[in-house]
Amino acid sequence: MNQFTLSTSLTEPSLSPLKSQSKPSAHTYLDNRVTKSQIENKRTRSQRARERLQTKEHLSRLAVGIYEGELADKLERCHSRLSVLTCGRHIARIIPNFTCEFRLCPDCGRRRSRKLQNKYLPAMTEFMLHNRVTPVHLVLTQTHRAETRKQSIKRIRDAFTKLQRRVFWNEHFKGGTWSLEFTKGKDGLHHTHLHIIGFRRKFFGIELLRGEWLAATGDSHVLHLKQIKDIATGLQEVVKYVSKPLDIRRFGAEDLREFLGLKNMRMFGTFGEFRDFCKGFEPSDNEGAAMSEVESLARDLVEGCACPQCSAPLFDLRLSKNELPQFYEQIESSPPDKVGTRWN
Ligand SMILES: [Zn+2]
Ligand SMILES: [Zn+2]
Repeated sequence: MNQFTLSTSLTEPSLSPLKSQSKPSAHTYLDNRVTKSQIENKRTRSQRARERLQTKEHLSRLAVGIYEGELADKLERCHSRLSVLTCGRHIARIIPNFTCEFRLCPDCGRRRSRKLQNKYLPAMTEFMLHNRVTPVHLVLTQTHRAETRKQSIKRIRDAFTKLQRRVFWNEHFKGGTWSLEFTKGKDGLHHTHLHIIGFRRKFFGIELLRGEWLAATGDSHVLHLKQIKDIATGLQEVVKYVSKPLDIRRFGAEDLREFLGLKNMRMFGTFGEFRDFCKGFEPSDNEGAAMSEVESLARDLVEGCACPQCSAPLFDLRLSKNELPQFYEQIESSPPDKVGTRWN
């Protein structure tokens, strides 16, 4: 399972522990999603790399089918040859020959969500330091209607705008970020959700928030709220939808055509006081400071440097896209006792 979706994926064979015989209630499936996300994180790197390849091949075939030859060509070339800096057991860095930048490309999506994390994590940390707020992950959902994807996205975003104008919201939230997740149900209807990291000013009963959401949407009170214990993990969870907003393997040619029509649709944004805070926020003059320690370290590594994890010399390995999953597999199957002392 490369993609992360709602009820549509509950019957996915690979996730049989979550397979549900009866249709789950809206609340149940939102809760299942949390479990599912944990399962997804347990998949090996080789499995994930293989799924990314399959997703791209599927997208490329769809693109050919709707005469988007240029897009198909870009997808084929994206990450097709890789320069891998490795000691043979660990990977320090991967440099692709070409990146397509297509919004549904899983390789480019991963890079885009890393960029968002590097940009917003320092701002969030600083914002929380200066304001007495608690971060929460809020999932807002809406009723399913016969409408286009564009209409569905507009409907939920308009409802969120209404929610933000309400007194209750302003009393309890000091801004945050939003990202869109959309998929299609078996009924063919679009399911669109907003994932919000909200900076909560003070505690409130969830029923009050449900009532507010019902007032904003007119017909939906379904939402899910959980406290974020670690903001880095919370942000990672939410920007994930920027790299995989939908289940592409369930995606048909018409879906791709429709998606291409959404060209300038934003998938991620900030709101409230956090939005203003980000405008004036300069993490550091040094771009590296916003990166994780490992990332900024990897950037300076070249062939012959010591592997950050085992100190063995790094060398440059040229791989084709099909060879990368095999290489991950090789690393995964190397006996743990052979792996050198971890770098601290
Ligand atoms: Zn790409
Ligand atoms: Zn190593």
